[in-house]
Amino acid sequence: MAWQGIEGHDAIAERFAAAHARGRIAGSYLFVGPPGVGKGTFALALAKSLACERPGPGLVACGGCASCVQAEAGSHPDIDVVRKPEDRSTIPLELLIGDDEHRMRDGLCWRILLRPALATRKVAVIMDADHFSDEAANCLLKTLEEPPDGAAIMLVGTALERQLPTIRSRCQVIRFAPLTTEVVRRILERETAASGTAVEAAALDRSADACGGSLARGRLLLDPESTSFRGRLFDLLATRPLRSVDLARETLAFVEAAGKEAPPRRARLRATLEAALEVFREAGRHTAGGQGTTERPDGAAAIDAWSGDPDRVAAAAACTLDALDAVDRNANLGVLVDAWTAVLEEPRLARNG
Ligand SMILES: [Zn+2]
Repeated sequence: MAWQGIEGHDAIAERFAAAHARGRIAGSYLFVGPPGVGKGTFALALAKSLACERPGPGLVACGGCASCVQAEAGSHPDIDVVRKPEDRSTIPLELLIGDDEHRMRDGLCWRILLRPALATRKVAVIMDADHFSDEAANCLLKTLEEPPDGAAIMLVGTALERQLPTIRSRCQVIRFAPLTTEVVRRILERETAASGTAVEAAALDRSADACGGSLARGRLLLDPESTSFRGRLFDLLATRPLRSVDLARETLAFVEAAGKEAPPRRARLRATLEAALEVFREAGRHTAGGQGTTERPDGAAAIDAWSGDPDRVAAAAACTLDALDAVDRNANLGVLVDAWTAVLEEPRLARNG
């Protein structure tokens, strides 16, 4: 059974249903788990259920009441969804407490205090909760500590360590696990069938196996453009001397070809950095005299090219990890890619920032 069509998180849905049946929905929740497993989708579905006039058993939204119709349309007066704008590196303060002219008279923290217009409660979802500025996090504390009666606030982040202890301690933490290979495969199969794309069973198996439980990554692995860029990336990494300008240009072209939306662009860059990291880690193992652990003939030339210089491969791995960490925080991916490729070519640049 997939709760409201969301696969892989039925146990969490059952916990919410049980809490709801006992009248024990908490005021503040913090959802954490790896990217691409469905935390945001789950939060939006839960918001709809909590606002529904007559949810069915298992806290399933009825889909037909006025509240469900508004939630479906994204125009529910009592469901507030806030996310980080794509061109900002943090959630702006004004989204929480209003802009300069409307301080404390607008924003999520103010709206949640209003009497519900349609539902029996106010529900708020804050996506991208890894990216609060300290100022915004501090403003949110009071709301999290004393949410109005019946209100429910869900913060959707990735890792607990990314939250200030003051936020963590005020929220009930809900941990989302990576999806199983079977679930990812089933979803990928359904999606490709629905879009009319013919995909071989073996390709579905490979993507589901290699995606680490992230549906977003699984989708990317199935994409022919991504597969072909992966090969090109390995060629570029195998070239000596390394040409960072080419690497930067082609990486950005691949990232930008994902379209105007930021999430697929970031997903492409993340996949590129992860593929490079695999090369560096494997080269590190070779350099240390060990046997490689993966059987990936596709990156063999790149792994060879990076083997034999432990300092350089360690610097490359470290700067790639830093870059991965920065993907979601950095508004400008071009700057990030330039800095990353520059350090690959010249490790000494790393120390100078
Ligand atoms: Zn309903």
